[in-house]
Amino acid sequence: MVETTRIVLASRPEGAPTPANFRTETAELPPLEEGQVLLRTLYLSLDPYMRGRMSAAKSYAKPVEIGDVMVGGTVAEVVESRAADFAKGDVVQGYSGWQTHDVAAATHLRKLDTDKVPVSTALGVLGMPGFTAYSGLLKIGQPRAGETVVVAAATGPVGSAVGQIAKIKGARAVGIAGGPKKVAALRDELGFDVALDHRAPDFAEQLKAAVPDGIDVYFENVAGPVAEAVYPLLNTYARVPVCGLIANYNAAGQPEGPDQLPAFYSRILVKSLTIRGFIQSEFVNEMFPDFLRDMTEWIADGKVRYLEDITDGLDNAPEAFIGLLEGKNFGKVVVKVAD
Ligand code: NDP
Repeated sequence: MVETTRIVLASRPEGAPTPANFRTETAELPPLEEGQVLLRTLYLSLDPYMRGRMSAAKSYAKPVEIGDVMVGGTVAEVVESRAADFAKGDVVQGYSGWQTHDVAAATHLRKLDTDKVPVSTALGVLGMPGFTAYSGLLKIGQPRAGETVVVAAATGPVGSAVGQIAKIKGARAVGIAGGPKKVAALRDELGFDVALDHRAPDFAEQLKAAVPDGIDVYFENVAGPVAEAVYPLLNTYARVPVCGLIANYNAAGQPEGPDQLPAFYSRILVKSLTIRGFIQSEFVNEMFPDFLRDMTEWIADGKVRYLEDITDGLDNAPEAFIGLLEGKNFGKVVVKVAD
């Protein structure tokens, strides 16, 4: 019998999650059946969508039930295999969640090449977040040479890839992030043309000055005050891929202040805006192979760089996740579960 140590949802958060919403426990895994593999988790991905799964509110995916292991993408080593295409020692990307070991169906796993890039990138720039940027920007944003693309949470795995892909397509990339360290990284490491701090008191004026030709693509990652500053600057026919709304994820109720919806609709009408929400999974069948090919090449050519924020030990996952929602992370949040 193999034991897994796992972190389960102990209770649903009201507002921001706290450590008390999580509980660590051990459990015995069932014996392997035909077509299954036993996995030892190496890396666990922490992502903003997990906040939605902690809530019982209806969404595009089912919530995690109280007492169930927290969901999450993982990179793992195959310890034992009863599946034809997988052997002991293979490294795979799967969805084992917040736990040290798992019995998984081989059909849900992607074998990783361990030679070229660190395997943790399968959870970031070469995984779901990188693909979110690639598909949302190219399918919905459709940046053209000379246009201006704006994205916030821009040092994170989605935003950093959005900005760099925009540059590859010949657009001007404006990145928004929280605090001087992140702003410096946007400029010096990730190649954004302009880097702005959304916490600056005069952020809206700085943004206006930074986009003299207006904004053609706003890749929406955050909503809130950043979006309020962006919307008046959108050009006619601007495209807005609505990817994430992290400023609202911990909100316990409606925001205070006047109803912005009439002004919002008026802008959509008079500027002929295209605003389109998406969940990256809808584009997987159509675009994932192209993404892997392009992104692997861009990383090898030095056209795309990435930041990783690695936390050691599964026990520290709740704290790292709470920090991610507060902007304490510097790059893609990954938990190193085992060597
Ligand atoms: P990040 O690693 O960038 O982490 C989230 C970042 O959001 C924080 O570091 C912080 O950065 C920023 N942030 C938090 N609160 C606020 C706020 N109130 N105002 C402005 N910025 C804030 O996350 P990801 O790159 O993984 O994800 C980015 C977005 O994409 C999220 O909204 C996520 O939900 C969404 N997403 C959507 C997918 C889809 O299929 N639609 C798939 C994957 C992600 P800073 O300190 O710079 O402000």
